[in-house]
Amino acid sequence: MTAQDLPRMPLPPARPRKADPLISLVVPCYAESEAIDAFIPAVDAALPQARIEFVFVNDGSRDDTLVKLLALSRGDPRVVVADLSRNFGKEIAMTAGLDLATGDVVVPMDADLQDPPELIAQFLERWREGYDVVHGVRADRSKDGRIKRATAQWFYRFFNRLASTEIPENVGDFRLMDRSVVDAVTQLPERSRFMKGLFAWVGFSSTGVEYARPERCAGTTKFGFWKLWNFALDGIVSFSTMPLRVWTYLGTLVALFSLVYGGYVIARTLIFGRDVPGYASLMVTVLFLGGIQLISLGIIGEYVSRLFVETKQRPLYLCQGVYRKGRDVSKRARAV
Ligand code: UDP
Ligand code: MG
Repeated sequence: MTAQDLPRMPLPPARPRKADPLISLVVPCYAESEAIDAFIPAVDAALPQARIEFVFVNDGSRDDTLVKLLALSRGDPRVVVADLSRNFGKEIAMTAGLDLATGDVVVPMDADLQDPPELIAQFLERWREGYDVVHGVRADRSKDGRIKRATAQWFYRFFNRLASTEIPENVGDFRLMDRSVVDAVTQLPERSRFMKGLFAWVGFSSTGVEYARPERCAGTTKFGFWKLWNFALDGIVSFSTMPLRVWTYLGTLVALFSLVYGGYVIARTLIFGRDVPGYASLMVTVLFLGGIQLISLGIIGEYVSRLFVETKQRPLYLCQGVYRKGRDVSKRARAV
């Protein structure tokens, strides 16, 4: 898929746009000690004139990421650091960053420079034309492994089939959003935060800019197979009730089939008399139905578990501190 294939959006009426908007870069960081030093210099080189706010969220890193971030904030007044109380995962860390960002436009970015800062200038151009959301479209994913690319493609296809909200293919979290979009996203209260889905759900006029996704500048990926699987499951369950409803139809089909088969067995017994063998067909039916019931129960469990989490109404994340110029400026710090 290319940027041209994105759902076509007519150019919206020109909006009044600031000539020199404040750009908030929201950067979730989990054990990014090796990558973090290169981040600000790379952004400054790509956008020398821009007014930028760096919102780093330390997502419970166990290495010295926080130490490095605090050092950055001491030396650079543009840096804000939110320190989450533990590892909440990228989606929640990003939410915390969006809550803190004050910019006229906001760009979520990975800390590992896989989202090239050079692209932001193009994002801004499209934003000035009147688009409220400008996606970074991964045109060339050759640096991602073959399996990752294939599974990502399956996921997008499957998701868009099932879900009522369509997410553009090959679009990650790297995108520019106008303030109005960010305000809409931060209003959404749910605990299961599949951000790509939430970004798509709020709507607004959007377009895309293509780029080739480079390799990580340093460090290693935090998303293993199991994490990605759970991420995909979370996305589908949060945005589609189809897996829950499909059992009605499947159940009806199986019941109809059993009715016909039952009729056949009765007729056969009446005509040919009692038939003792039949162990194999009995076992197959019992096992097959048992399997189907377990699957459907599991799927109901996925939804019920999310209902359970939502009803607890816990805060999305806990912040131990918010640092500007190396000092904690959070409410908690003021209370002490
Ligand atoms: N990340 C995070 N919390 C986590 C896992 C990852 O904040 O629990 C951040 C990570 O520091 C990085 C971004 O999310 O800035 C993307 O992670 P990564 O590069 O490992 O993912 P990939 O690019 O391999 O999909
Ligand atoms: Mg990465």
